[in-house]
Amino acid sequence: MSGLRTPDVLVVGGGLVGLTAALVLRHHGVSVTLVERRAGTSPQPKARRFHMRTMEIFRELGLAGLVHEAARDLAGHDHMAAGRTLAEARQLPLWQPAGGLAAEVSPESPCLLAQDALEPLLRAAAVDAGADVRFGTPLAGLEQTAGEVVGRLADGEIRARYVVAADGARSGIREALGITRSGRGAIGGPSVNVYFTADLGEVVRGREFNLCQIEHPDAPGGLASVDGRYRWVFMSPGGETGRDWPARLRQALGVPLPDLEVLSVLPWQAEMLVADRYSDGRVHLAGDAAHVMPPYAASGANTGIADVHNLGWKLAAVLRGEAGPGLLDSYDAERRPAGWFAADQSARRTDSFKRGTPDPALAHPYVLAAGGFQYTAGALVPDGSEEPVLDFAPAGRAGTRVPHRWLDDARTRSTLDLAGPGWAILPGGNRVDFAGTGECLLLRPDHVVAWRGRGAGEAAKVRAALLAAGGCIEVDGRAAADSGTV
Ligand SMILES: Cc1cc2nc3c(=O)[nH]c(=O)nc-3n(C[C@H](O)[C@H](O)[C@H](O)COP(=O)(O)OP(=O)(O)OC[C@H]3O[C@@H](n4cnc5c(N)ncnc54)[C@H](O)[C@@H]3O)c2cc1C
Repeated sequence: MSGLRTPDVLVVGGGLVGLTAALVLRHHGVSVTLVERRAGTSPQPKARRFHMRTMEIFRELGLAGLVHEAARDLAGHDHMAAGRTLAEARQLPLWQPAGGLAAEVSPESPCLLAQDALEPLLRAAAVDAGADVRFGTPLAGLEQTAGEVVGRLADGEIRARYVVAADGARSGIREALGITRSGRGAIGGPSVNVYFTADLGEVVRGREFNLCQIEHPDAPGGLASVDGRYRWVFMSPGGETGRDWPARLRQALGVPLPDLEVLSVLPWQAEMLVADRYSDGRVHLAGDAAHVMPPYAASGANTGIADVHNLGWKLAAVLRGEAGPGLLDSYDAERRPAGWFAADQSARRTDSFKRGTPDPALAHPYVLAAGGFQYTAGALVPDGSEEPVLDFAPAGRAGTRVPHRWLDDARTRSTLDLAGPGWAILPGGNRVDFAGTGECLLLRPDHVVAWRGRGAGEAAKVRAALLAAGGCIEVDGRAAADSGTV
């Protein structure tokens, strides 16, 4: 086809997840082409909360500073608010986490930045990183052979070794591959997001918020800050898009809105569905293509970004010939349970919010926000220790994100900075001896503890064994490592 390369990886979809996939792959030195059918990035703000874990991934990619800078309008807008109308709303006390503040949990703070502002930033960064990014380029079909994947575009073909299908909730690729989904399906009724501009700076001054619950009986909904002053989203229950939105917004906000302009109205339905397989041959699903979840735990895009962070180093290792293709099986083994967990927690959070009663099966919010989910099978050597599922108690167990500790007194370098794009060995002892055992940790390129044991030499052997075995050591690898057989 005209002007297109034959990349190692074809990414389909230029949303948050596809763009991050392109960035992660470039970070690992992989050639990548991204095709996106839309002419531009998302016109709707949708996702606005990016967790610590996502910011750690952006930190590794050298983008955290840029993202925080872009998010400065909403810095400090962490409160919730509630009232009959915006005019009557009061700021609610800030939620305080049990078990440590964000600053002790991660080298990065979470941020509030609307998706329609973040996507252009990621798109520009992906182009700068050398990705071949093609908007206005729909993929019409895919065929797999033993050695490659051939994609059909309007003006020809594109050939790649692997495909990352980040083509969204209605993924045509997932459907064409016949990959079914399981889960609760629709959660609650339909909603619409009304994206509008109005200068509300004076109205909200001194009681700034992330989300304000409007309790007006005739115009209930959630008012989300997009830039904290001019740009807003009103989330209204009910699926009708054709209402008199200016009149309804005036009712909900309870203030005159002389400069009100409704930009767009997006109907959406919260759903909990997870693909029954994340991979089919050379094609790997990521993001909403693999899982959809209600937005109340702000985890849809965050989970998708973690998917491609996991997949990226594995594709790179296989493409470089460092690992056998079996390593890619660990993508499904690790990320599908993680996707299910995030989707289930998001559904529970929604139920609990709507009922107004706590759910005992709800995890500490940092489990989702700071990568507290443990992989129990995959490219790792299980060490027999289980991370609590609902509590946030990181201790460097195999299959978990390495806990954060500053490595220097100036607090510039974290344990999270050791790995990525390469592997790392974190020696035991002193300030980073999480388990108090003196064991060293073998860290994968995605900051996940692959093995815990004695001796850097053993760690190097385990790494080689993990890659050579295709990444899935199901046996007691610790015993194998100790006995020097790997
Ligand atoms: C109201 C709301 C609030 C939310 N808040 C949050 C939040 O705070 N935090 C959070 O993490 N998540 C949140 N989410 C979820 C988040 O928006 C999604 O999880 C995220 O956008 C998914 O990104 P994606 O890249 O996987 O998919 P998408 O953003 O859907 O991108 C898929 C892309 O693929 C393209 N595409 C599809 N088919 C083709 C094709 N054949 N060829 C080429 N391109 C194709 C599409 O045009 C699209 O651009 C929210 C969602 C909603 C609705």
